[in-house]
Amino acid sequence: MKGQEDKSFLSIRKFKDTREDPGFRLPTPAVYVHRFPEGIRRKFRRGSNVTDLEDFSCTCPEWNEKAGIYEHRDIRRACSHILNIVESREIKGLDKLTAFLLEDIRKHGAGNYFSSGESAGIIIFRTDPGSKWVSFFLLDEIWKNYSWNTETSRWSYGIAPAKDFEERIEGILRQFV
Ligand SMILES: [Zn+2]
Repeated sequence: MKGQEDKSFLSIRKFKDTREDPGFRLPTPAVYVHRFPEGIRRKFRRGSNVTDLEDFSCTCPEWNEKAGIYEHRDIRRACSHILNIVESREIKGLDKLTAFLLEDIRKHGAGNYFSSGESAGIIIFRTDPGSKWVSFFLLDEIWKNYSWNTETSRWSYGIAPAKDFEERIEGILRQFV
């Protein structure tokens, strides 16, 4: 790609104030809570800790602390035991999006997830207070994370999502300029 002009819409123009574009309808992002699926009857014991995936709980202090912050089954309740189990084992019945978001939490900590869009499908994204990054979780054959830097107006590693996502992503990003 070096030397070749990147024609993806996000790299060639700066977003205008949405008020200049009366035809554009802003999607309203909503807080997105991803819940751990029910029916996974697996229990793990490590030292004095018991991790139970059926009710998405653990006996460790970290889980207890997160349970005081997040709702029942919110995947952000995951402690290091849960995160390590999901990362290192094949868990039957666990969908790929849940596993992917748990991996995001394992790498970057529990974050603020949002969703936007309806007719063309929901887009899930993450942005944290004070962060210049907006990360999109997109199913492009497999689940992938594409992060947009709101200061430099560039995609992380220069890797932009497929064209099919452009319109929906643009609507979301306009809200961060
Ligand atoms: Zn734990």
